[in-house]
Amino acid sequence: MASTAGDGGSVPPQAAKVEAASAPEPPPRGPDVMPHEECLSGIRAALNHPTVRFLRERMDQAGCPVWPLLIRAATCAESSGGYASKHGIKVCCNQMRFQDQINQVLIHELIHAYDDCVVKNVDWKNCGQHACSEIRANHLSGDCHYKRELLKGFMKIRGHEPECVKRRSLASVKQNPFCSEAAAKDAIEAVWDICYNDTRPFDRAP
Ligand SMILES: [Zn+2]
Repeated sequence: MASTAGDGGSVPPQAAKVEAASAPEPPPRGPDVMPHEECLSGIRAALNHPTVRFLRERMDQAGCPVWPLLIRAATCAESSGGYASKHGIKVCCNQMRFQDQINQVLIHELIHAYDDCVVKNVDWKNCGQHACSEIRANHLSGDCHYKRELLKGFMKIRGHEPECVKRRSLASVKQNPFCSEAAAKDAIEAVWDICYNDTRPFDRAP
């Protein structure tokens, strides 16, 4: 989740749906961004990614509606994706360059959706609850796997993964209008051990 703090509550049942957000102006596109049509078909393809399927199954089993989310292609200023209670998941197509990136975004945002569903009414205005979900999403989505970080120019072998999870989580939580940078840092430290080790619904971090 980027800066959008939902007001809690589960997302109403929706059929899986991919649609383009209406954009009044041409979207700002980064270099090497895939064509929009390719991004749309990439989102459809990502729905069949094994980890995505696993998460969807587990959400069903956790008593959530079969497909509670609206997944939509969006145009975003900076973030690559987002999740908000009652609004579902957005994939920022103007930032997507590879299929792998779309898969990552979807898995990351699905972890937020899972948390919203299983914990029921996550209070996104609460820095600790938001921090916990970011730690889990960044850890469990593989956002910090070695090769991906290498591509982005961040590399330190020892202790690299947790450090990366912290850095990315901080970047998201401090964008929450209810959390200052200091509050975000404190919140991440306070919930770190519990949330980093909470790998639900996976047996261990994939
Ligand atoms: Zn997030």
